[in-house]
Amino acid sequence: MANTNKRSGASLAAMADTGNPERRLPVVAIVGRPNVGKSTLMNRVVGKRVAIVEEKAKVTRDRKALDATWAGRKFVLVDTGGWLATGDELDAKVSAQAELAAKEADLVVFVVDVTVGVTDEDDQVAKMLKKIGKPVIVAANKVDSSTRDNDIWIFSRFGLGDPMPVSALHGRSSGELLDKIVEVTDAPFEDELEDWAADRQDQRNKRDHDELRVAIVGRPNVGKSTLFNQLIGGERSVVHDLAGTTTDSVDTLIETEALGKVRFIDTAGMRRKSRVGEGTEYYSMVRALRSIDEADVCLLVIDGTEGVSAQDQRLAERIDAAGSPALVILNKWDSLSTEEKLDTGEEAENRLAFLSYSPFLRISAKSGAGVNKIWAAIAQASSAYRTRIPTRELNLCIQKAQSEHPPKGTRILYIVQGATDPPTMTLFSTRPIDPQYLRFVERRIRERFGLGNTPIKFRVRRRSEG
Ligand code: GDP
Ligand code: GDP
Repeated sequence: MANTNKRSGASLAAMADTGNPERRLPVVAIVGRPNVGKSTLMNRVVGKRVAIVEEKAKVTRDRKALDATWAGRKFVLVDTGGWLATGDELDAKVSAQAELAAKEADLVVFVVDVTVGVTDEDDQVAKMLKKIGKPVIVAANKVDSSTRDNDIWIFSRFGLGDPMPVSALHGRSSGELLDKIVEVTDAPFEDELEDWAADRQDQRNKRDHDELRVAIVGRPNVGKSTLFNQLIGGERSVVHDLAGTTTDSVDTLIETEALGKVRFIDTAGMRRKSRVGEGTEYYSMVRALRSIDEADVCLLVIDGTEGVSAQDQRLAERIDAAGSPALVILNKWDSLSTEEKLDTGEEAENRLAFLSYSPFLRISAKSGAGVNKIWAAIAQASSAYRTRIPTRELNLCIQKAQSEHPPKGTRILYIVQGATDPPTMTLFSTRPIDPQYLRFVERRIRERFGLGNTPIKFRVRRRSEG
């Protein structure tokens, strides 16, 4: 049988569904009457061709579950050796133990002995498996040489599909059996699991998902406090001060109608009017960098009368690197002449090119002009940031983009969204993807799914073509 790393186009949808980060490893149970070779098969699988990664906490008493890897794909193998160790009261034992295991499994490997043929006990097990209705592979064991190959067909009478010949003792055909196991269970690839684990970790680090975390950053005197007070001053918001995550920091939590809880990060300096010792550029920079890392959305406030400074550019770069969506707030717009407005706006967009997907909002924090637009922009940014695009639609979008404008020397086989906050895509391609083509793909996804100014992260993984 071919290497299971290769995938046909037809299996695209099935594979893509494994993009679900909640997905657990498939569980494979080995069942059968005593002496057919279950233990030998188990040892063959985990001892030789499949590496034992870890021994899991026992699923239930008397059962051992081992993480197994075959052709780069992972599953859990459940050893049921000893269940049916006494021939007495077979019915009771089958229903009590094997039924439970088979119900928990995604696939059952039903082991029978070709040197013995079909016994009553085999029939009992087959009956139970049919009732449960889980996928079954009938493994006809002890086919030590090809002279026995034809003897396996007797086991098709179970009505559980074509039996597969195997010799647990000699290892004959065990590769084929394992190929079949990973195929039927659609076992995930190891590197996908690594990605998902990393993504889950990222998500956990984001802490409380009920609240939207907003950082207001910028140099001293650009108008952050004035803006903050405007934003929380709305009559409908209820305000609480909370201890922040870093020492001495205080966050402000407000309840809004449109967005629920919104937490402004590190706001002590903004709420107190006397801000002793916070006037230095260095100090505010350090705090700003910390807030950016914690935020779901960053408001980068620029003093419109001064334009974008090198310090502002550093903040913008940091926001970009942190992967959170940003709004660029051009403040003190009331103090600018019409001509200055044009120049300042254009210059800001040029100097903050790395935030090119961010909206640039012209406001006056002092008068409140334009402040309402900020709430709408925050809402847009946060919903895009938390978007989860159905895998199927994502793949249709990529297929369309590729057929209209094929990449050179490579092909994107499929794409999954591994995480939100920000949307993170894993692309599987036959060869590395040119950065320019990746930007084209990003643009397509952004437009098709209305992701607006939210950052999108990409990971590229190599796969051989099916
Ligand atoms: P279990 O009780 O079903 O777990 O079966 P075991 O794994 O203990 O095997 C029962 C007997 O069958 C042992 O003597 C094994 O050595 C033997 N056996 C297992 N697999 C094979 C095989 O592929 N070929 C032959 N000839 N004997 C086997
Ligand atoms: P912060 O240090 O960034 O928090 O800046 P503040 O909010 O304390 O504002 C610094 C100065 O800029 C104060 O004198 C504010 O009155 C003034 N300021 C803030 N926003 C505006 C604005 O929209 N227009 C004008 N003309 N002045 C503003």
